[in-house]
Amino acid sequence: MIVMKFGGTSVGNAERIKNVADIIKSRINKNPVVVVSAVSKITDALIEMARAKDKIKSSQMIKHIIKTHMQVIKGLGIEKTLLDEDIKELAALADNAKINSSIDLAALDKFQSFGERMSSKIVAAQLNKIGITAKAFNSWELGFLTDSEFGNAEPLEDTYDNLKKNIKKQHVVPVITGFIGKTENGEITTLGRGGSDYTAAIVGAAINAEEIEIWTDVNGILSADPKIVQNTHTMERVSFAEASELAYFGAKVLHPKTLLPAMDKNIPVRVLNSFEPGNSGTTIYKTIEKRRSIIKAIACKKKITMINVGSSRMLGAFGFLARVFDIFDDHRKSVDVVSTSEVSVSLTVDNDDGLEGIMEELGEIGTVQIEKNKAIICAVGEGMKQVKGIAGRIFSVLGNNNINVGMISQGASAINVTFIVDESIADKAVQTLHKEFFG
Ligand code: ASP
Repeated sequence: MIVMKFGGTSVGNAERIKNVADIIKSRINKNPVVVVSAVSKITDALIEMARAKDKIKSSQMIKHIIKTHMQVIKGLGIEKTLLDEDIKELAALADNAKINSSIDLAALDKFQSFGERMSSKIVAAQLNKIGITAKAFNSWELGFLTDSEFGNAEPLEDTYDNLKKNIKKQHVVPVITGFIGKTENGEITTLGRGGSDYTAAIVGAAINAEEIEIWTDVNGILSADPKIVQNTHTMERVSFAEASELAYFGAKVLHPKTLLPAMDKNIPVRVLNSFEPGNSGTTIYKTIEKRRSIIKAIACKKKITMINVGSSRMLGAFGFLARVFDIFDDHRKSVDVVSTSEVSVSLTVDNDDGLEGIMEELGEIGTVQIEKNKAIICAVGEGMKQVKGIAGRIFSVLGNNNINVGMISQGASAINVTFIVDESIADKAVQTLHKEFFG
């Protein structure tokens, strides 16, 4: 069995959905289990609808959402009433919702769920139309249960057994909603933006799939962001470790959490392009053979804030770092890059939400300085472990190009070199390194 997950642009209109159904058909002998995202931009529209400040805005949004889906249905020539139930339910939800922009997370998840609920029905209908017996499932109908962390839910342990049991007994191609689940109390949850990849990996791990295919709109994972570098190339094979680093630090192809369930079960994840199905894309394996290339990709994440905490008390003392991290922990704020010296620690965060409170508490244990508009640059490659002088080469070429580097860090896995630059020169830094290592 394989899992095939299709993202929003892959199911963006009638033509794209026809194409998706054909791709699924071409792999029918592998017993595909399909996972789908909402039609492109529909999740955003549902959020806008949920947060509408007045009834006028809310009804504009629902009209837009209905129109988009009806156009798809018309383009495919499938049953016009297919989504009637969902549309009725969505309209009732909007009617009953209190109109205010600070809608609670549980209600927001309920709104968002309609995107995948509708797209899965459309994809299943199109498969049936071309002769593949398929059935749409809301993930919870197959036992996808989550905790009640609305907006960022995690699957419950039972989910894996439930999915295995329920999927194995289907004699049709299941087309499952990505991104959403339900709590044991029956409340709808979402796994976080881009969470359909995670659904695919969870389903893949549950059924012990041969492979998890993530169908998107680019040819796999590229050596750099093509908006920054012109002559990027697709990496054919990367390790889970490399892909995770890249996912966290800017390569937007995969949801970082996606890899965990697949990694645990050692299931290869292939990133493929539904606009170019013949392209072999990138495959992510647990381990990969030693490669000639030392560095495989250069990722970049902008809009970073850097926080420096200094304390002379840190000198030779213990517990300082623990206190710093406790503060971030208390505020549930995730830290990306860390670098320490004897008397200071620098950390980065990728948004400023809740930063004021953190700054105040950090101020009680040391001097705090904050620097905004930074970018993290991350050069990744398993080959770095074996080769000497890579850091030297990276920083020399940057220095020669007048690029000032701050806060350097290399994790214990030694597969990445990460550093911070001013956002204004981030593109130049990526271009310079790409040229140095790939020409
Ligand atoms: N539809 C959701 C989003 O736009 C989930 C996904 O596409 O993966 O974030």
